[in-house]
Amino acid sequence: MISTVKSGKGRSPAIGIDLGTTYSCVGYWRHDRVEIIVNDQGNRTTPSYVAFTDTERLIGDAAFNQVAFNPTNTIFDAKRLIGRRFSGETVQSDMKLWPFKVISDVNDRPMIVVTYKGEEKQFAAEEISAMVLTKMKQIAEAYIGSEVKDAVVTIPAYFDHSQRQATMDAGEIAGLNILSTINEPTAAAIAYGLENSSSITGKKRTVLIFDLGGGTFDVSILTVKSGSIEVEATAGDAHLGGEDFDNRMVNHFIKEFKRKHHKDVSTNLKSIRRLRTACERAKRILSSCAETQIDIDSLFQGIDFSATITRPKFEDMNSDLFTKCVEIVEKCLIDARMNKNGVDDVVLVGGSTRIPKLQQMLRDLLNGKELCRSINPDEAVAYGATIQAAMLSSPGDEKVPNLVLTEVTPLSLGFELGGKVMKVMIPRNTTIPTKVTRQFSTSTTTHNDRSVWLKVLEGERTRSTDNNLLGQIKLDNIQIASSGVPRIEICFDRQVNGILNVSVRDIYTGVENSLSITSGRLARNEIEKMINAANKFKASDEKHWKRYEAHREFDSYVRRMRQTVSHHNLSSTDKKKADDAIQKAFQWLEKKSARKLAQVSEYERKLKELDQLIGRIVEADR
Ligand code: AMP
Repeated sequence: MISTVKSGKGRSPAIGIDLGTTYSCVGYWRHDRVEIIVNDQGNRTTPSYVAFTDTERLIGDAAFNQVAFNPTNTIFDAKRLIGRRFSGETVQSDMKLWPFKVISDVNDRPMIVVTYKGEEKQFAAEEISAMVLTKMKQIAEAYIGSEVKDAVVTIPAYFDHSQRQATMDAGEIAGLNILSTINEPTAAAIAYGLENSSSITGKKRTVLIFDLGGGTFDVSILTVKSGSIEVEATAGDAHLGGEDFDNRMVNHFIKEFKRKHHKDVSTNLKSIRRLRTACERAKRILSSCAETQIDIDSLFQGIDFSATITRPKFEDMNSDLFTKCVEIVEKCLIDARMNKNGVDDVVLVGGSTRIPKLQQMLRDLLNGKELCRSINPDEAVAYGATIQAAMLSSPGDEKVPNLVLTEVTPLSLGFELGGKVMKVMIPRNTTIPTKVTRQFSTSTTTHNDRSVWLKVLEGERTRSTDNNLLGQIKLDNIQIASSGVPRIEICFDRQVNGILNVSVRDIYTGVENSLSITSGRLARNEIEKMINAANKFKASDEKHWKRYEAHREFDSYVRRMRQTVSHHNLSSTDKKKADDAIQKAFQWLEKKSARKLAQVSEYERKLKELDQLIGRIVEADR
């Protein structure tokens, strides 16, 4: 299932972005292949983290690395909030796990509250996601060497209309032209070229995508036929992933420490953080080695900690979680009414799928089916998005895979009937644009005397209250017809730009009313306000970065001068004068980095002064 919003124009660089819950990844099509782009820290994935401090805003690794010192102002999991209502069950339960504050605005939209430069600020999830997208855009621009505007962004298959629209808004706030969004499992299937295999043979293929990341687990079953990909069923657990496996190991070692030293490490947050980092590393090693060692100097109250962990032990402590994963796969197969022998391909996505035991359990479940894992599992989704971006921006390029692009409705669209059940007008997976017009008697719709209320819904459940309410239209001054006699005409028109137009008309009187649903989308003026705020942030970040560069430059200059002075045979008076000046410069630098960086001009002035002083002393020595 691929959603196309705008077609690419010209040959400006277009990138593919996997906007993940915990990590994001960006790719670019070059030299006839996908290149996954390395960020400024040399990493191929970037934490989807944004932090606000007294002096600056940090995004990616820089934000992630300071989370322990600044937990209430370090934001992650924006993807769990985007396009959702504050009062919804998901937001209410997720909020309990976050160290940062989330409140509701007047429209029941969740707003994240932080302190930035000493002032309280509120951000919508779209804005936080926009900051992560901006970072991914910058990573790509640094690599490609030119400005990037166009992008394909991935979204989970289960995202509803509102979440999809909100992700598009995030792209716009980040200054990106979102060529299309693409479902994550679809992108993974494209990465493996699975759409091609079915195009060649013309036969339908069934693909199971097993996506286990740091904090989420998603299973999707897709069918691929003649280059078009559809999502048949999804299942998962929004709170199951690598972090749970890390926690199990952390708890195991807390117990071991207690047994050996009779002390409780869990009372010290810093010790726990260090232990968790070591456990995560050990977990990764155990995916390729049978055994590994954990060594942490002075873990707690000056006591060093050293322990061994074997792969069977790790598997044992997580066996219930691994079993849960397999059970979810079974459930997804049942939902898709599919036999496990009917799965043609299994694609692994997400870093945690590197765990050999999980791979084996999955293989056993699917009667020994081989798993597609030649592409890095953390990169498979970005890989597919990049192919899609290349295809949209370079139509006709023979080297780029050619897919049949169809945008489909991710969920069924309909309205509420009298008995509070949903009447589907446009079933899920219908190719759009699509327009459906039907006639109904007023007794089928919710009515009251001479008015009809039409509640527009989205979802797959029978009871209307279990589905998403997208909007309501009222038609007044109608005449109630006797039961079963068509009286009103309802039209659902779903356009490619994501907008759903619904109209209702009294057939006899011609009275009509309509509603344009852009649900989930921010109002135009709100988007513009956020774009302006994002630009202000960008300017402030750049200013801060320049100060930081000036600070580093002066710091390394002072270090160089210290070397220079030590290499000269100066008189004791000159040596003291130079050493004092250097010492003073170091103290000043330390004060600035601990509190607030100085202005660029101040660093330049200090550098010039020191340069003149040392220059004079060294010159006199010659
Ligand atoms: P993702 O969100 O897809 O980037 O997945 C990140 C998760 O994958 C984290 O919990 C990592 O600890 C985990 N991970 C990465 N590499 C490995 C590995 N070799 N073995 C086990 N887990 C891994």
